[in-house]
Amino acid sequence: MCRFLSAPFSRGRGEERKKEAAAAMARSVAYVSPAKLLAMARGNPRVAIIDVRDEERSYQAHIAGSHHFASRSFAARLPELARVTGDKDTLVFHCALSKVRGPSCAKMFSDYLADQTKDGSGVKNIMVLERGFNGWEISGQPVCRCTDAPCKGTCSPEEPEL
Ligand SMILES: [Zn+2]
Repeated sequence: MCRFLSAPFSRGRGEERKKEAAAAMARSVAYVSPAKLLAMARGNPRVAIIDVRDEERSYQAHIAGSHHFASRSFAARLPELARVTGDKDTLVFHCALSKVRGPSCAKMFSDYLADQTKDGSGVKNIMVLERGFNGWEISGQPVCRCTDAPCKGTCSPEEPEL
């Protein structure tokens, strides 16, 4: 059975929201649900998940295979992020709830790339994980607790429980 998740979320709450949505669309920063991200990332090496939580990552779990670029030092590490994701075509950002840090880092990176590659060669699909890591974990998606940086795990729900 294949069920489509209707992608754009219409939370139309007044003009402000509409303007925000329009700005996000223009920059192609879209939200993606945990289930959809899992389906996208599974077996696709061109999708990178960027965790921008700060110290929480060290004592909470994380999404398998995700990179960690803490929001606090994010601006300084933009070139590094661009380098390690050079072979990716889709970047999905998240923080704990994806309300502030996730979307703002996604936008910062999107602006940085636009600045770096005026010819459009570096265009990437920049997305934000809806409801962040907390939403991911609550909805029962697989998490990883390794201490590797970056995490070498992959999103594979089929993996047997140890
Ligand atoms: Zn891990």
